[in-house]
Amino acid sequence: MTQLSQKVLDLPESATLAMAAKARLLKQQGKDIISLSIGEPDFNTPEFIKKTAIEAIEQDYNSYTPVDGYLELREAVCKKLLRDNQLNYNPDQVVVSTGAKQCLANLILALVNPGDEVLLPCPYWVSYSAISSLNTAKPVLISSSINNRFKITPEDLKKHITSKTKIILFNSPNNPSGIVYSKREFEALAKVLKAYPEIIIISDEIYEHINYGVPHFSLANVPELYSRTVVVNGLSKAFAMTGWRLGYMAGPKWIVKACKKVQGQFTSGTNCITQRAAITALESSPKSISYMVDAFRVRRKLILDLLSDIPGFKTVPPDGAFYVFPDISYYFGKKIQGVKINSANDLSMLLLEKANVATVSGTPFGQDNCIRLSYATSESNIKEAVNRITSVIT
Ligand code: PMP
Ligand code: GLU
Repeated sequence: MTQLSQKVLDLPESATLAMAAKARLLKQQGKDIISLSIGEPDFNTPEFIKKTAIEAIEQDYNSYTPVDGYLELREAVCKKLLRDNQLNYNPDQVVVSTGAKQCLANLILALVNPGDEVLLPCPYWVSYSAISSLNTAKPVLISSSINNRFKITPEDLKKHITSKTKIILFNSPNNPSGIVYSKREFEALAKVLKAYPEIIIISDEIYEHINYGVPHFSLANVPELYSRTVVVNGLSKAFAMTGWRLGYMAGPKWIVKACKKVQGQFTSGTNCITQRAAITALESSPKSISYMVDAFRVRRKLILDLLSDIPGFKTVPPDGAFYVFPDISYYFGKKIQGVKINSANDLSMLLLEKANVATVSGTPFGQDNCIRLSYATSESNIKEAVNRITSVIT
């Protein structure tokens, strides 16, 4: 008999982290792997942010911080949300956590009872369903497909709402599809949500700044939804600070207060040096990081152009984030290099084993026909990776 809890036995490993670990291991074993698996900028953290962190160490920042983060940092979060998003919050409506991932975990743990339903528009980021299930909630998937550009409609949304619906979790710009819901699309979805005042909205906006044209909009900007929407954001993507571990949420006081209580029992306030650096990051103009977005824009075009030459890869040009999410169902039932491909998992595995290119299957994102390729890597890696893919599958 196993001694592990049923909850943990049922918990899937994070597919993105698992593929990244596999790619890392193969590299260590001497294999020439190109990783298009994990979603993390390949840039260094900007110098002006690193400088603040070094100063913080020299100034002997070393103690536990307030559980919800330094007041100065929560004030900087409020200023950022007003400056970039026209959203008004007070510092007591903000909790800073160890990554946006912890914000999401805190929120779901604080809000759900057994059997509550969490609506997940597909495709969704892998951890949403895992965190929901771990907390005894039921993830309810609202499917989409490449035919509707991976977006759900107000009718789709309405069909999935039940008396048990507790949370809807939106992510725009989206990981893995890169789609961005426009203000008009969000307003149409908001019309449905206005009729269900008991549903809490979590808006994961971690890719906000990595946007190629469709203006960013948040459901918190819809006046009737503001009082039951929690905005989640963080430093990982925009500031190339994945390992520093800082995310934040802003929302109704009663929810953020509960999250603070949860965090106080689990991890306490996040790293004090990271918090000092975060003040500088959030107070800086988004222009200070636009060089990274410019590079992602060039790589986006490059990978889309290259993939368009592979007949079985159907893509929707992403409006944000740094992923392409081709529908590869053309290959299902076919044999490639003697291997029968029945699923996105099979194709992703084949690409790793035969092309030495790491990707992530769409299945853990709720989209069985797709695979995800991260283009947060150099142009030469992108060219070589697509060359290798092409030579294996065509
Ligand atoms: N939300 C989405 C959509 C993500 O892709 C990620 C991955 N970094 C996170 C949240 C978590 O980010 P972090 O914990 O690094 O802030
Ligand atoms: N969010 C990134 C990804 O999807 C980082 C990995 C993770 O935290 O799951 O690849």
